[in-house]
Amino acid sequence: MDNHILQEAARSYNTPCYIFDLDAFTSRIRRMEQILGKQVNIYYAMKANPFLTAAAARAAGGLEVCSPGEYDICRRARVPAQKIVLSGVNKEEAPIRSVMADQGAGTYTAESLNQLSLLETCAAKTGRTGVRVLVRLTSGNQFGMDQEDILAAICDRGSYPHLDLAGLQYYSGTQKKGLEKIKKELEKLDTFLDFVRKHMDFEFRELEYGPGFQIPYFEGQEQTDEEILLGEFKQILASLNFKGAIFLETGRFLAAPCGSYLTRVADTKRCQGQNYCIVDGGINHVNYYGQAMAMKVPPYRYLPRDNPARPPASETSGQRWTVCGSLCTSGDILVKNLPLEGLMTGDLLVFDRIGAYSVTEGIYLFLSRRLPAVLTYTQKQGLSLVRDAFPTDILNDGFAIKHIKGEQ
Ligand SMILES: *Cc1c(COP(=O)(O)O)cnc(C)c1O
Repeated sequence: MDNHILQEAARSYNTPCYIFDLDAFTSRIRRMEQILGKQVNIYYAMKANPFLTAAAARAAGGLEVCSPGEYDICRRARVPAQKIVLSGVNKEEAPIRSVMADQGAGTYTAESLNQLSLLETCAAKTGRTGVRVLVRLTSGNQFGMDQEDILAAICDRGSYPHLDLAGLQYYSGTQKKGLEKIKKELEKLDTFLDFVRKHMDFEFRELEYGPGFQIPYFEGQEQTDEEILLGEFKQILASLNFKGAIFLETGRFLAAPCGSYLTRVADTKRCQGQNYCIVDGGINHVNYYGQAMAMKVPPYRYLPRDNPARPPASETSGQRWTVCGSLCTSGDILVKNLPLEGLMTGDLLVFDRIGAYSVTEGIYLFLSRRLPAVLTYTQKQGLSLVRDAFPTDILNDGFAIKHIKGEQ
């Protein structure tokens, strides 16, 4: 996003705020589709950023939805049922039944044999048949189930008359550098799919795979050539024996580059020989995977505002600043020793590539500071305020809940 759009956002909507570029998000989905071709359907894992839900529903094949709350967001965004894969390690009967009784989801994942039984019960009780299910294979953690359990479910498929065991799902984690691990995983899945086809008198028609592609965040990190990465990934897919439909569930890779976070310098000082600037945001809003102790430099832009009082460049050359947030903890350091020569109160700092896992993963309730505003941008519609800044003090003493319930 251009600097002038960010400056306009800060002027009109105040800081701190997030801006998500919906055009950029849509074109990343398109580009991925173009490179990977028709056999591959792009699914957006909305936990990466729920503010991109409506855009994803328009541009992507579908959405990976992991909680009742995420489902409600989809309903309000009028995401068509067939575009929803209802996922999640904890599926409870009441919400699943209510989804099935409502419009249903296009597909459900099953992460355990218990979940398969639960889906069967819910489908039977709500009168749904042919409910599409993806069985999730574990990668050695609390998610999914062992191959033995999946084989048992296939043998026992007569016990699930309302379900259609359509496919296999696998996701082992995020920020995978390169394609080596991805290739190994896909080959392992292919072997298992082969085994099922040859020995079980049964065939999974679909494979839903989360590649967990890496987004480089920090200064000095190698930048990925995404075109090359996706081209090579396509070749891996083509080399599989499995020829069914492939669904790619991806969050970070699509969303991360499409967001910026704006924060203004609220104060400057020098303590024991170190320059500190205090910004109106902080680590409660900024979350970069792999960042620790502010030692790494995330992608940032420094946008000084017009200020006639700014000292001449000759007086500030070589100046470095440690950027701290507004929380009352010495841990609230965004970056150390940034070369922000001539920095003054009122200047704007922008942190980029923040479109995934920041807007919901921050420690937002700490210190009862306000939630940042959330804006979206498209070239056609310009900036839109999606969520205004919102106080958290009314959550931190229960006032808001009592108010909503009419007790106050
Ligand atoms: C979070 C998640 C994803 C998305 O992962 P990214 O690394 O952000 O692409 C995909 N699938 C499942 C099941 C997930 O839980």
